[in-house]
Amino acid sequence: MELVFATNNVNKLSEIRSLVPTKIKILSLSDISCYDELPETGNTIEANALQKAKYIYERYGFNCFADDTGLEIDSLNGDPGVYSARYAGSDCNAENNIKKVLYKLGKKKRNARFRTIISLIIDGNEESFEGECLGYITREVLGSSGFGYDPIFKPMGYSLTFAQMTKKSKGLISHRGISVRKLVNYLSELY
Ligand code: IMP
Repeated sequence: MELVFATNNVNKLSEIRSLVPTKIKILSLSDISCYDELPETGNTIEANALQKAKYIYERYGFNCFADDTGLEIDSLNGDPGVYSARYAGSDCNAENNIKKVLYKLGKKKRNARFRTIISLIIDGNEESFEGECLGYITREVLGSSGFGYDPIFKPMGYSLTFAQMTKKSKGLISHRGISVRKLVNYLSELY
């Protein structure tokens, strides 16, 4: 059984390959000679995940899945949400995004959550898997591992930010870890 993971992120690809049973072969976009920029023009992370999976299924004809993640901060009305990757502008990096979040938050309440959606398309049938991690935005940058907003996100019930945890500890409680395990359970029952 072969499934394409519609991502250009090599870290996500290797993470998924280590989790999925070996009888399911995970192909990368380059394995199917796809070098396109995948469209992500939806207004929600659900729409974006489905848009990317559909793009590959409809143009390349492979069973596939795609993911999308957003950081949702209550007192910023759910921002940066679907715009998490480019919150501080289209050419911005993680540091710029973090600075903007800390500036916008000021003294407001700091409750937040990460949410990941994985959209899977097998023979035209669509399924989705959601993972959520509740937490708080810290007042300063703490830790240096991970990526994106990890240095300012402290999961609820923990004293460390994601950037102060090992990859393994983060994966056990993270939004992405949860959604990936749901996907893996589903695939394991199917094949
Ligand atoms: P993507 O949909 O996984 O590409 O994520 C969109 C943006 O959310 C990324 O550019 C990151 O800035 C941020 N992000 C996604 N997952 C995480 C995470 O696990 N920790 C911190 N930031 C993340």
